[in-house]
Amino acid sequence: MAYRARLCLGLLAVAAAPVAAQEALSGWDKAVPPQPAPRVYLLVDMEGMGSAVKSQEVIAGNEGPAYRDRTGPDYWEHYREMLTAETNAAIRGAREAGARSFVVNEGHGGNRFANLLPWALDQEAILIRGYPRPMVMSTGIDSTFSSMMMLAMHASPARRGVMAHSYAFTDFTVNGTALNEVGINALVAGEGGVPVSLVSGDDELEHEVRALLGDRVVYVRVKVALGSAAAITYSPTEVQRMLREGAREAMRRTRAGELKPFTLEKPYRVEFSLRRSYADSLVQRIDEVVTEWGGEKTGARSYRYSTSDARRLAWMIDRIEGVVLP
Ligand SMILES: [Zn+2]
Repeated sequence: MAYRARLCLGLLAVAAAPVAAQEALSGWDKAVPPQPAPRVYLLVDMEGMGSAVKSQEVIAGNEGPAYRDRTGPDYWEHYREMLTAETNAAIRGAREAGARSFVVNEGHGGNRFANLLPWALDQEAILIRGYPRPMVMSTGIDSTFSSMMMLAMHASPARRGVMAHSYAFTDFTVNGTALNEVGINALVAGEGGVPVSLVSGDDELEHEVRALLGDRVVYVRVKVALGSAAAITYSPTEVQRMLREGAREAMRRTRAGELKPFTLEKPYRVEFSLRRSYADSLVQRIDEVVTEWGGEKTGARSYRYSTSDARRLAWMIDRIEGVVLP
């Protein structure tokens, strides 16, 4: 529970000075440079990578006061290296099945969304990193991508997955369907016609992914959860082999047209509740964000919001994340 109380966002809470509205907008008008097709978008989180079972392994220690001294050289430094190797393995597999270009997006808040090693990452990939930036888990996604792969993802708090959580929420539904971080970002991609071809993480997330995205998405189960801080794991070499093979199959299915973008009926009727651990002062500030966005409060920590634009929804989540930072 201590972990959940502290590691408060979907992406791990990152301390930041209050972001001026102007700054929060910066980057919305920018696009990732063109690349040859087929092009793959890789969203890389960290909790769901092979071997990782506790927060020290995914925190750099510089994210804010709550994270100080919560890591060490045996932890995050080593895991970021393995995360980079996992990403490279997926790129390699996709390339073997015909993918020609890659954009990698840092979706995990450790070291303020800069976990991968640029010099060790596949040198043909474009890398998006740093914070704050718009739609932090899906920055730059658009209809030019053939598919989205999501690596090292984690289950929602509804399941006993390793480091399970979902942004700042205890529950989050769109049109009555519970969406975890995979689901929310699949919706953003799906709106641009981009299907999710592969997800990696533990067996608890696998249940959620199958329920949401169906049986055609390739799922790479890199560990079996034994609760929120323990797992049965494979060696890093074996995980990389599985990811390479999985990405090859995911790309094959993409090119064969076997995958459908994840969509929900518009307008999206969004309902969500904030974690009970948040102080009332934070809740008040989130009230303001939701109101500013045109949403309404339905309970002490519950809200309702309607939109026909998933990017706008992702943007509101960004703003909520900005508030709950320690
Ligand atoms: Zn994360």
